[in-house]
Amino acid sequence: MKLIIKGKHLFMILEDAKKSRIEICGFLLGRQEGHDIIVEEVIFTKNKLNSSTAFEIDPLEIVKVLDYADGKELEVVGIFHSHLGKPIPSERDIRGMKLWRNVWLIVDNRGNYGAFILKNGRVEEVEVEVIQS
Ligand SMILES: [Zn+2]
Repeated sequence: MKLIIKGKHLFMILEDAKKSRIEICGFLLGRQEGHDIIVEEVIFTKNKLNSSTAFEIDPLEIVKVLDYADGKELEVVGIFHSHLGKPIPSERDIRGMKLWRNVWLIVDNRGNYGAFILKNGRVEEVEVEVIQS
């Protein structure tokens, strides 16, 4: 499995994370082709918790994103959020990954990132391919 994301999209997320004192978050919209998860659009949402160590997205905002994706014939292929520490899933993230079983892109505020998915109860790293827009 591979996450394919445009450089400009990844840059937007990394830049936002660098400027923020709280965890930033949002959704990756796109489509899956075989083992490739292709990101077509990045949607930023609010971190309801306003926290530097956790994030939560308001269910109403999730519904809006799902409707928007539907209208564009895209799927929610992933979730992204930032850490002020290392970009690896926290215990809380792993609980969230049980609910949102798609790819989790995690960035830090220094330009590092990683993608993860829960498979058979275990966190697996997903390869990220950054492409020119
Ligand atoms: Zn996290």
